[in-house]
Amino acid sequence: MATRIDLTDSERATLDWIDGRADGMIATLKDWVRINSGSRNADGLERMRGELEHVFAETGGQIRAVDLKPTVSVSPSGEVGEQNFTPSFHLSVRPDAPIKIALTGHHDTVFPKGDSFSDWRMIDADTMNGPGAADMKGGILVMLHALLALELSPHAANIGYDVLISPDEEIGSLGSGPVIHELGSKAHVGMTYEPALADGSLAGARKGSGNWSLKVSGKAAHAGREHHLGRNAIAAASAFALGLDALNGQRDGVTFNVARIDGGGPPNVVPANAVVRFNVRVKETDDQDWVLASLDRLTQETAARDGITASMHGGFTRPAKPMTPANARMFEWTREAGTAIGLDILWNDTGGVCEGNNLWAAGCPNVDTLGVCGASIHSHEEIAILSSLPERAKLSAIMLMKFASGEFDAREARALAKNA
Ligand SMILES: [Zn+2]
Repeated sequence: MATRIDLTDSERATLDWIDGRADGMIATLKDWVRINSGSRNADGLERMRGELEHVFAETGGQIRAVDLKPTVSVSPSGEVGEQNFTPSFHLSVRPDAPIKIALTGHHDTVFPKGDSFSDWRMIDADTMNGPGAADMKGGILVMLHALLALELSPHAANIGYDVLISPDEEIGSLGSGPVIHELGSKAHVGMTYEPALADGSLAGARKGSGNWSLKVSGKAAHAGREHHLGRNAIAAASAFALGLDALNGQRDGVTFNVARIDGGGPPNVVPANAVVRFNVRVKETDDQDWVLASLDRLTQETAARDGITASMHGGFTRPAKPMTPANARMFEWTREAGTAIGLDILWNDTGGVCEGNNLWAAGCPNVDTLGVCGASIHSHEEIAILSSLPERAKLSAIMLMKFASGEFDAREARALAKNA
């Protein structure tokens, strides 16, 4: 059992203030759920960013839009081009304060423009079904109200913070990744607002993840008259995919998922192009070198086939986030903060990844499931537990107030990360 912590009268008063805002949080969440902000819906993402600028203005901090660098994308027909992103939302408050916190989240969802899942509906008095309700429009409201509560507390001046809310988390944070890294390298600790599970438990250690596209080119030919002149890109891509799949089970905790193969055309043509898309998960950062060497070998084997060329695009986007002493310290503090409001916070390791991986890669210890309690995310059954909006805002507010008062020593956690 975690050490019970005490709250001062002024800290209790800020928690009461959060309770007073609970109805407003729910009303805003219902409005936001109706704004489609699928990762590729630029109009919807910009509309949501406008909403963020509006509500976060209440903190009194400096708000700006951060342009994200385009990344390489490979089209289904194998053309290598650029993928563009809408800007991230950035808020900075007291950048010169002695203690620095990075808070991150995302305003994109997995539901594309035109998806039939486009409105909220109550399942019961406390359970709301809606796109992005838990992942993570509800989480953004939790973060906002924790920060507003901090601003009411007497030690707020000791903390400076950066908030980054990104448009591309659900497609791997390829654009915002470098910005999250920069934030994480400057902050003592990080707080990210992915949903907790419906029972309130958090994600502990996380695997690392990378995405790749292998572009395979061969030679087209008429399948009947000149089959012998053709060089079949799909056959070569398939051999690669089987080789990739065969790597599963060879190293503990490392998995390879062949996700999609594009290419080919009419049955009477030897296909000249194919693209293999796949994901790799690793348990430890040390696994990455083995993965890269394996991919290199398979790519060379593919390219060694007669008349075939192969080029790999992609990389590890989210390194593993193990339960190091520094991350464990953050969890202990979360648990202690929970005791002050009657919560018994638990956590479990997961193969899933999020911005918490990126923060940790920059040496920033963090807890990344500080958002609402929810379930069935990424599906039309996604739910958020509405009473968890004020509950989790209070949890984060206590942590922030204890960082501010020095009872939780954020600088000590960062120092532990350096020694890891
Ligand atoms: Zn999310």
